[in-house]
Amino acid sequence: MSKWEERLSPQVRSIAPSGIRKFFDIAAKMEDVISLGVGEPDFVTPWSIRESCVYGLERGYTSYTANRGTPELRQEIANHFKRRHDLTYSAETDILVTVGVSEALDLALRTVVSPGDEVLIPEPCYVSYQACTILAGGVPVNVAAKIDNEFRITPEELEPYVTPRTKVLLIGYPNNPTGAIMERSDLEKLADFAEKYNLIVISDEIYGDLRYSGSDHICFAQLPNMQDRTIVLNGFSKAYAMTGWRIGYALGNPEIIAAMTKIHQYTMLCAPITAQMAAVEALRHGEKYMKKMVAEYNRRRKLIYDGFKKMGLDSFEPKGAFYIFPNITSTGYTSSEFAEALINSEHVALVPGTAFGQSGEGHVRCSYATSIDKISEALARIENFLKNHKK
Ligand code: PLP
Repeated sequence: MSKWEERLSPQVRSIAPSGIRKFFDIAAKMEDVISLGVGEPDFVTPWSIRESCVYGLERGYTSYTANRGTPELRQEIANHFKRRHDLTYSAETDILVTVGVSEALDLALRTVVSPGDEVLIPEPCYVSYQACTILAGGVPVNVAAKIDNEFRITPEELEPYVTPRTKVLLIGYPNNPTGAIMERSDLEKLADFAEKYNLIVISDEIYGDLRYSGSDHICFAQLPNMQDRTIVLNGFSKAYAMTGWRIGYALGNPEIIAAMTKIHQYTMLCAPITAQMAAVEALRHGEKYMKKMVAEYNRRRKLIYDGFKKMGLDSFEPKGAFYIFPNITSTGYTSSEFAEALINSEHVALVPGTAFGQSGEGHVRCSYATSIDKISEALARIENFLKNHKK
């Protein structure tokens, strides 16, 4: 260990850099790469949303906002949850606007986790869940969701991991990286479980609007007795193609939101003002654009799912988000070997399943938030790779 490395905090030393970024760096040095690696819409933010930011700048809106976010945006978020989920949140006390869901996740964990508290995390899951838990001083307890159950998590699977230190259940459905969703009946069982063990639930619902199953997204706070114990995280990055605007939010009971606001106040102060104005426009008038983008993702989803099936790579049919998680064990490669060999020989970037937890071994994550032409070309290249590279 170098002299500076040994002076780093043990928490920071114990977390690895994101396994997603590694493949971006390889891809960045190559020409003719097709990337199925990034979890980012290929659409530009709809014009009316961009325009509201331009007008904001023209009118001189360049200041800080209230720590919790502008009253307009908080009120729109409250209206949205009333309309969409029949949930009542006070714009005054129950909503905090953050710099992306990333910040909301970090704040939620830092607010409720004391040193040594255990956080139950179904995996495979988004790369930040374990890392942010560790940075908050907590202990991530990973519980593998099974493909046989369409990557849904059940209380029976979680129960053996409960200890007196278990404090939080951290879930993310629709799921990154598997594309799994949870139906109301699945969530109701988790709600009973949360109540039985008096857990705080952090529910990352950033992909809530990206569903293709026909059934509606249920917000975890909608379930009986769950609103008070649930911190709902959501944002604009995925559904409105607004990753670069960095706007997310947390909803919860007034005490927890006030405590999260304290950290936000000292570390971030507020989210950018013009991005908050754009978010207001997204909630007021953006739904029609969002629905068009979701319809297009659905077309791409079908293409990529059929493509993998035809070439003999088993895959769970994703029902939400914009990822597919095919099983590559038939090739004889590990997830990492597969991803590395594929990018080097066919210039197709995807992410090894292990970037999302050990239970992701044997899978790779492909994002289909890219054009039909690129997906078709990537599928042809992957098929070619399989012909030439069976181990
Ligand atoms: N949660 C999940 C499940 C994600 O996939 C992502 C981004 O990929 C985030 C949170 C972070 O989103 P944001 O851009 O709002 O910080």
